[in-house]
Amino acid sequence: MKQNFAIIGLGRFGGSICRALIESGQEVLAIDSNEDRVNEYMNIATHAVLANAQDENVLRSLGVKNMDHAIVAIGEDIQASILVTLMLKELGVPYITAKAQNEYHGKVLEKIGADRVVHPERDMGKRIAHNLVSKNVLDYIEISDDYMLIELKVTNPIFFNQTLQDLNFRTAYGVNVIGIRRGKEIIISPKADEQIKEGDSLMVVGSTVSVERLEGKMP
Ligand code: ADP
Repeated sequence: MKQNFAIIGLGRFGGSICRALIESGQEVLAIDSNEDRVNEYMNIATHAVLANAQDENVLRSLGVKNMDHAIVAIGEDIQASILVTLMLKELGVPYITAKAQNEYHGKVLEKIGADRVVHPERDMGKRIAHNLVSKNVLDYIEISDDYMLIELKVTNPIFFNQTLQDLNFRTAYGVNVIGIRRGKEIIISPKADEQIKEGDSLMVVGSTVSVERLEGKMP
């Protein structure tokens, strides 16, 4: 379904969101106060506008309130990010995603009504660290403070040619296997009689403690 997005701030974060949304066929109004940035996105975004988003009249005249979703991707200028988020909220934008620079900034954005607060640098740092510590962790998503989803390469032969039932993942490791990647194929919601093969990677969900215990089995 086609949706209208407004992106405020065309730095690396806002810019890559803009490109990805356009590639998936969405409409994007991109706003930045820096002329070079706007020129860069002139032929990429549906509309790219040079404006200071801290000016409420600018937001009104651009019709931002008619957008389905606004993304506040202002980086360094925390004050501007907070003010713009607040104004978008007051204008009645149905869904606002805002990028936080740090935990305090994130808390403020949540308090003033951002529907989703993202911490891209923090989260990417954690993901990369995880991958550095354990090279068999192919991907990693924190679901909450206590739960995570990881994709883990199976390197321990004790798992090879065993079914999920034989291995008794849920009881023995406290995790749920939600997918198995085998070459180009992904087996989603594998059945209990699915056998794990050498070269597979497992997508598992579980508590951080359980998942890390399973990671420890893949040296
Ligand atoms: P990133 O970490 O995503 O690269 P940057 O700080 O480089 O973040 O980018 C933020 C962008 O937001 C910059 O292009 C900047 O010009 C833009 N920006 C900052 N304040 C405003 C504002 N008040 N109105 C519009 N754009 C703004």
